[in-house]
Amino acid sequence: MADTINQAKLTISCIAQAITSTQQLRSTVTNVFNLLCEGVKPDEDHDGRGRDRKKFLQKFQEHLQAVNKDYNEVEKYCNSMIPTPELQVLGPLSHLSLDSNTDKKNTFRDAVQTYEWNQRMHEYAQIASSILLSHQLKRSQSSGGAILAKRRRALPPKFQNMSSQHVENTLQLLARQPADLTFKLIKTLGDTRILQVTVGRVFTVILMLRNLLMEKVLVKGLDEELYYENGTIDLFSESQFECMRRITDHAMTAVLQYSTTHATQPEIPLKYFLLWLQSYKNLFIDPCSICGKHLDGGLPPVWRDFRNPVACHDTCRP
Ligand SMILES: [Zn+2]
Repeated sequence: MADTINQAKLTISCIAQAITSTQQLRSTVTNVFNLLCEGVKPDEDHDGRGRDRKKFLQKFQEHLQAVNKDYNEVEKYCNSMIPTPELQVLGPLSHLSLDSNTDKKNTFRDAVQTYEWNQRMHEYAQIASSILLSHQLKRSQSSGGAILAKRRRALPPKFQNMSSQHVENTLQLLARQPADLTFKLIKTLGDTRILQVTVGRVFTVILMLRNLLMEKVLVKGLDEELYYENGTIDLFSESQFECMRRITDHAMTAVLQYSTTHATQPEIPLKYFLLWLQSYKNLFIDPCSICGKHLDGGLPPVWRDFRNPVACHDTCRP
């Protein structure tokens, strides 16, 4: 702000000096014309005519030198003045510059700045548009909404083209690793398998897999019925115990968590999930790692962190 004021003061000073030097130039030019109007004066004593002509030429030369000097002064002050960018033409808006009130309100100056910003934005937009047009992505060019949605729903080929033997071998390997877990294959329907996983002496988990992809988890108490009367597996009835229903919810969250964070290999999410389930083997023994109590609202610590699965109440989780 101070720089602007100083610059304005400097410009005003230059204008004042330029006006003074212009007046001086006008005076010296007038002297030249007056001298030319008077012409060569007649010789008074009629014996030195050549001498009067010499005097005239000498005076004329002096006046011209004065004109030259004053002209240089004017030119010097004109060159030292800084051109003001707001004097460009803005259509009808330029009439604002003629209003003396704009000196107080700065309306015209603000309008000019806005116009310049707008022009610059247009230039940048044109450059960006040309760059984007020259680097268009194929996926945004060709794929329509329906095709794109279909592609997004499709699973990676490694989940679909997995051989049954590979799935069996992987499940056998996984069943050996976590202690305190008992596996039982209940049913196989094509790529879909239903497993019964018993965690210590705590609860039973019904786990539905498509190849190695976990699709449904249901946690029930050890003494709860897992089959309908006709002998088919019950995949939909929730446990009658609040504790098991809470663990079912957390287990589904764990399935989503591990499936999204370890989606590169199909068996890794299942492996992490089984290790997470193993942390429930002492559900009714271990106290909460935060508050140190066993029960909270009549429930044991039913929540486990996905990275560090230690016993924790729902209300105590960080
Ligand atoms: Zn607690």
